[in-house]
Amino acid sequence: MLTAVVGINWGDEGKGRMVDLLSAEYDVICRYQGGNNAGHTVVNERGKFILNLLPSGILRDNVVNVMGNGMVIDLEHLCGEIEALRSKGVEITPAKLKISDKAFICLPYHRQQDILEEERLAEKKYGSTRRGIAPVYGDKYMKKGLRMGDLLFPETLKDKVADILEWKNITFSGYGQEKLSTEAMVEWLKKYGEPLLPFITDTMEFLLKAKNEGKNIMFEAQLGALRDIDFGIYPYTTSSQTLAAYAPIGAGIPGVKLDRVIGIMKAYSSCVGEGPFTAELFGEEAAMLREAGAEYGAATGRPRRVGGFDIPASVYGVKLQGADTLALTKLDVLSYLDKIPVCVAYEIDGVRCEQFPVGDRLLRAKPVYEYLEGFKTDISQCRSPEELPRAALNYIKYLEEAVGCPIEYVSVGPEREDYIRMK
Ligand code: GDP
Repeated sequence: MLTAVVGINWGDEGKGRMVDLLSAEYDVICRYQGGNNAGHTVVNERGKFILNLLPSGILRDNVVNVMGNGMVIDLEHLCGEIEALRSKGVEITPAKLKISDKAFICLPYHRQQDILEEERLAEKKYGSTRRGIAPVYGDKYMKKGLRMGDLLFPETLKDKVADILEWKNITFSGYGQEKLSTEAMVEWLKKYGEPLLPFITDTMEFLLKAKNEGKNIMFEAQLGALRDIDFGIYPYTTSSQTLAAYAPIGAGIPGVKLDRVIGIMKAYSSCVGEGPFTAELFGEEAAMLREAGAEYGAATGRPRRVGGFDIPASVYGVKLQGADTLALTKLDVLSYLDKIPVCVAYEIDGVRCEQFPVGDRLLRAKPVYEYLEGFKTDISQCRSPEELPRAALNYIKYLEEAVGCPIEYVSVGPEREDYIRMK
């Protein structure tokens, strides 16, 4: 069984905790895109973990975790993440973690370039996490990248770095920066690359073998459909493909087909960074929702923008992901509301619009809000549909019909067992 678990919205839907829950039935968990620009929060009997680069299956003993070729890896950050987990008693061995030799390395100058560019843009900034993600993907396509596999050949590494920096320094001098030093960069690669060497491997061979042996493989996405570089709200996207269709490519087995796509969809909206976010709420209404949902970035601590559930955007997200089934997350967060706000359509230049608009039309979109009855009770202890109040069941049914995809799981708290199986 090959399954992708992906975000329907802007990210932060709670994918990490759903992967952690669902991974019980899987033998292999793969990350297939992105870097340490987003965080998955997983809470289980071992404690609370924030994972930026490591796949969520790392917290289960019998799961093999793959970091695929579609990823960009900041070696220093990964070493830190591994250390932090080891200090909490999580064992990380080459049998449990496999890093693709074709994944790209995110270097300190990528981070630096990210910051320089955001500062140059000033009030026009993208709201980047400043972790070097756009520059490293840019370099990948300029064919000026270093890959994890390059660390296995130290004898040629220095020359490769020198060639790349000769080119990179043209950009850095444009920003008025001093020249980057080859020696310093090689030293960094050695310091943080060496501890990772035992994990670097050809993940294609590993995954094909696992598939042929009938193993269950799960592909875990970072961010959501609306952040996809091709189909998201460009340029307020991430720099990689967040869609399920890309999962086999980014993980390392491009020729296979997925059996199942599980979309993770939040019971309300949240968005980190800049760009159009039509359903956005402001003032007291937003502050209360942000507090109730603890909507602060897992990677950066930034307060997230929040809004009611956005039907046009979520319908688009479900379509982009080709979701077979959905998990609705954080329903418990809405318990405090008398009336639940839902953005049912957009209004553009005075005309009601049900479809998610493309291009600059989105910049002019205003939300059309309707209100559904609130459930006004703590549902965090509910474990079956029968235990949910009628208004909560109505809300789930309403969203299911609005987005045209069955909701199979509903989460009502951050911990592994805080969920309801709907059918
Ligand atoms: P991800 O990147 O999609 O994994 O999402 P994040 O980890 O950034 O955000 C999800 C946040 O919501 C984390 O702090 C989770 O612990 C928390 N969370 C996940 N599911 C639930 C839920 O059902 N209820 C509540 N109250 N919190 C949840």
